[in-house]
Amino acid sequence: MKKRVFNIIILLAFAALSGVVVMQVYWMRNAFLLKEEQYDNSVRIAMKSVLNRLLEAHTDSALRLLSSPDPCVFQKTEVGDVISEPILDSLIKAEMRCMQVGDAYEYMIYNRLNRHVVMGNVSQYSDELFISEHQQSIEALFSPGDYYFSMYFPQKRRQVFLQLSLWMVLSAIFLLVVILGFWYTVYTVIRQKKLSEIRTDFINNMTHEFKTPMATIGLASEMLLKPAVLSNQDKAQTYARVIHQENERLQHQVEQILQIAMLERQEVTLQMRRFDLCPLIYELIEAFNLRAEELGGRISLIKDCESVYIYGDRFHLRQLFSNLLDNALKYNKNIPVIVLMVKVENQMVEVSVKDNGVGIADEKKKVIFKNFYRVHTGDVHDVKGFGIGLYYVERIVQLHGGKVLVESELGKGSTFVVQLPAMAKPIEP
Ligand code: ADP
Repeated sequence: MKKRVFNIIILLAFAALSGVVVMQVYWMRNAFLLKEEQYDNSVRIAMKSVLNRLLEAHTDSALRLLSSPDPCVFQKTEVGDVISEPILDSLIKAEMRCMQVGDAYEYMIYNRLNRHVVMGNVSQYSDELFISEHQQSIEALFSPGDYYFSMYFPQKRRQVFLQLSLWMVLSAIFLLVVILGFWYTVYTVIRQKKLSEIRTDFINNMTHEFKTPMATIGLASEMLLKPAVLSNQDKAQTYARVIHQENERLQHQVEQILQIAMLERQEVTLQMRRFDLCPLIYELIEAFNLRAEELGGRISLIKDCESVYIYGDRFHLRQLFSNLLDNALKYNKNIPVIVLMVKVENQMVEVSVKDNGVGIADEKKKVIFKNFYRVHTGDVHDVKGFGIGLYYVERIVQLHGGKVLVESELGKGSTFVVQLPAMAKPIEP
């Protein structure tokens, strides 16, 4: 699939998913508002019912009063004369229970004109009660003055929320699963795409790397077959040497690839033993100095190395430092000046390889240790390699229980520092 089409599809899917999230939030908010309205209606009905029942009781008592021998004796001048507080209290309790609005409320009967509270159950929400949305006039019961029956529910929102909480939690979980699923799918697809690009790069690289020595071997052997060359011992030797060198290079490359494959499958078993690192370092300096001197440069040790014992696999450590020295020479456009240093500090052996090469940009410092990763220059094949050298270095160092650090400045050079535990115990791969 073309990159643009893929990006458009991902963008569309992301937009659709965001739309679903927004809609879901919108519906949940609507559901909350509806529930709140339902709650308010229940309260209104309950309050009306309370007043109706008070009215019924009041009419009964008024009738009884009218049919009594002296109906004019009793005059209703106070709210308390028509509403008994305990009856009001129990009526409210009963009605609120009936309408399932709970018992977390405060109420009062008050005069709106002078804010005089006549009766009620008021403790901390008196201000809220004066402005509560649940207020009903008690004019039908007691007309003089402007008396109101007011109720306030401090836990209304919480109660409504609790009623919806199961749905909210479920929809949040479903949304989360969908979002995570989407994210994981996109992440996997992008990673797979990158991996496939990297592998294609690697195969191209490998083909190129193998083709060159094979072509040279082919040419040299062709020359060797010629009687004129065969009869000239010097020429024959030169061609035979070329074949030998190129064959060694091929073998080294195949070996490198095989080792990486083994590392990836975690099949590398280290042959751990106690040995002195210094002879190994001197051996490597000598071997690589041949190449450095060919380029007019030099590899040197900053301070003499003497009896630095570590517990490790000599073969793999040799390979590891070879990779670092090889890179120090490869990624260098100047006359190579490479400096090594070995020191022991806090039970750690530190070997640093400092070069005056091309350097590494800050943002690349982490990724260079990734498998098959190569810093892209204009021409990929400018410097030969598979992008596996530093991956190998990091894995082997980790298997020894150490770490590898890099300090570098573009254009100025790089320093790779390998820290290994001095006499550490072997770590299983
Ligand atoms: P390879 O050398 O086969 O490409 P490596 O894993 O050894 O693979 O290195 C990965 C990348 O890190 C290289 O492509 C190179 O750009 C960068 N690199 C490694 N060592 C150095 C160095 N000493 N100086 C500058 N760049 C380096």
